[in-house]
Amino acid sequence: MGARVLVVDDIPANVKLLEARLSAEYFHVLTAHSGLEALEVCANDRVDVVLLDVMMPGIDGFEVCRRLKQSAQTRHIPVVMVTALDQPSDKIQGLESGADDFLTKPVNEIALITRVKNLARLKTLNDEMMMRAATDRQLGLTENGELDRALSGDFGRVLVVEDHARTAQSVVRPLAQFHETVVEASMEKAFEHLTVEHFDLVLVSLSLKSGDGLNLCSKLRRTDTTRHLPIIVLIDQGSDARLLHGLDAGVNDYLTRPVESHELLARVKTQIKRKRHTDYLRNQLQRSAELAIADGLTGLYNRRYLDGHLSTLIDDASAGNRELSVMMVDIDAFKNVNDRYGHRIGDSVLVEFAKRLRRNVRGVNLTCRLSGESFLVVLPDVPMERASQIAERLRAQIAAEPFLGPSSERIRLTSSVGIARLNGVQDSGDALVKRAHSALENANRCGRNRVGVAA
Ligand code: GH3
Ligand code: MG
Repeated sequence: MGARVLVVDDIPANVKLLEARLSAEYFHVLTAHSGLEALEVCANDRVDVVLLDVMMPGIDGFEVCRRLKQSAQTRHIPVVMVTALDQPSDKIQGLESGADDFLTKPVNEIALITRVKNLARLKTLNDEMMMRAATDRQLGLTENGELDRALSGDFGRVLVVEDHARTAQSVVRPLAQFHETVVEASMEKAFEHLTVEHFDLVLVSLSLKSGDGLNLCSKLRRTDTTRHLPIIVLIDQGSDARLLHGLDAGVNDYLTRPVESHELLARVKTQIKRKRHTDYLRNQLQRSAELAIADGLTGLYNRRYLDGHLSTLIDDASAGNRELSVMMVDIDAFKNVNDRYGHRIGDSVLVEFAKRLRRNVRGVNLTCRLSGESFLVVLPDVPMERASQIAERLRAQIAAEPFLGPSSERIRLTSSVGIARLNGVQDSGDALVKRAHSALENANRCGRNRVGVAA
């Protein structure tokens, strides 16, 4: 689903221009023409990123930003300040009022899309993390400050790959106030540092005398231990083609020379937060296994976790008036696998089935093993039609690719799926799961190997 971007400007032509560019990239655009209107939209609607004009009559952009960041309800919405002049004083004031990044008018297309994409991703991860943390609390699982650490974008370890001494200095000086910073001139040595030591971020110059910094970037993306490491490149003005190439190759963000220190700090902070949010979510499944809320055989969440987390997801969907679907998946005639090949092979089929299930749905969805050969996937923000497509794709894939039996024998299996959607604010998790179960029984009655949809 496209992120929801609120564009705030008192001049209608500016709003129209940004709206057109963002819509072309499939963002959902909301608009406001004054500071107060912007605050109202943020309080009453779901907003993932705010693009905020600084100079407006009434309350200005700085004040809007301050108020957004003061309220617990809107604090996590990323704000991009759009400044008319390239004034460092605006940026200082912007950072002080809590802005997450900056754009300068006239707004450059690549800058706009890169900024919004990065911050929308941060917001999605943040939402997901906060919901998981809420469920952890409900289940009485302690966190030991892990959430607080994951929310902070400070005290990171940053490697700067730069062989131009003056540029290196201009980057290190502001960064050193908040982060531990290491400078390395050689790409080979930088790669070694990054694979052996812990870093939260790497800044790579694309003007190295010794070679093309983009080679280092793509090598980092291809290496297991650095695949998820955030990368920011330093680039000269007017190198758009190279920049686009880098962004395609997995570079997360960029800074244009001469490096402006407030932009540097803002962008570094966003990327470090993003990495920590992702790590938090990845570790959570690990923790769940230790806390007996993951299923021992498949590593998916178990029924206990589903019961807790489904209500959090439903409350969130209801509050924001958003869609939510569930699909219940059952392997057809699974008993035959056990009867014919034994329990051990039965187990390995279940493990492989769980893998395929996970591969077919995104990480933000909740995938659980309900019992034996029966699974449930919760799909937030997914309308019924889309859930049907996902279910059909999974069904077809299970039927098309046999599972591995003893001595490389191939076991052909099919599965049946029942899907249901959240139905208004009165609906409950139990009722929703029951409807998915009825839909599944319907699919079984109609001959199995099919998708049933709840009325
Ligand atoms: P249907 O098409 O109606 O779904 O029939 P089915 O055979 O798939 O379902 P049924 O409920 O009749 O049988 C499920 C079987 O799954 C019976 C049980 O022994 C087996 N089972 C349950 N848990 C496990 C497990 O952890 N490992 C293995 N190998 N088998 C399991
Ligand atoms: Mg079955």
